[in-house]
Amino acid sequence: MSACLLGKKVRYDGRALPVADQIIEQWHSERRIVSVCPEVEAGMSIPRQPAEIFEGNGQSVINGEADVIEKEGANVTAEFLAGASVALDLCLKFNINVAVLAESSPSCGSSAIYDGSFSGKKVPGMGVTAALLRQHGIRVFNQHEIAEANQALLATHGD
Ligand code: SF4
Repeated sequence: MSACLLGKKVRYDGRALPVADQIIEQWHSERRIVSVCPEVEAGMSIPRQPAEIFEGNGQSVINGEADVIEKEGANVTAEFLAGASVALDLCLKFNINVAVLAESSPSCGSSAIYDGSFSGKKVPGMGVTAALLRQHGIRVFNQHEIAEANQALLATHGD
């Protein structure tokens, strides 16, 4: 699960994006949750410049066809790929089949991302981590789809 959704102040602006949901409380009590912030895992600072995928999406970044660029112009593609790889390694290590990631992030977005113009405009698409996890068969949901994520968990584990 995205660390920012669990209340960790790891976002680019130094804030969290906490989600209060009974299902998450239950996952906690069952010790199911593994928390990750791909960007911080890749060594990026808190706070940091906002970044967006320029002319592409998470899949095209993985394919080497697009870059992740910070607002002031630095190319942080390598960091975003490294962070996605850490998240994937955790999924493999802990046999995780379901992820809940923060929507719209250039790492964690699973349905929508910002369009690369830093104008607040969103387009359909995935961030780099969401795309990498889906490429490896992990089901990715956002914070508005907790019930669906729980259904997927139950279907996977049968409990
Ligand atoms: S990279 Fe993901 S976990 Fe980290 S702050 Fe951004 S949305 Fe949250």
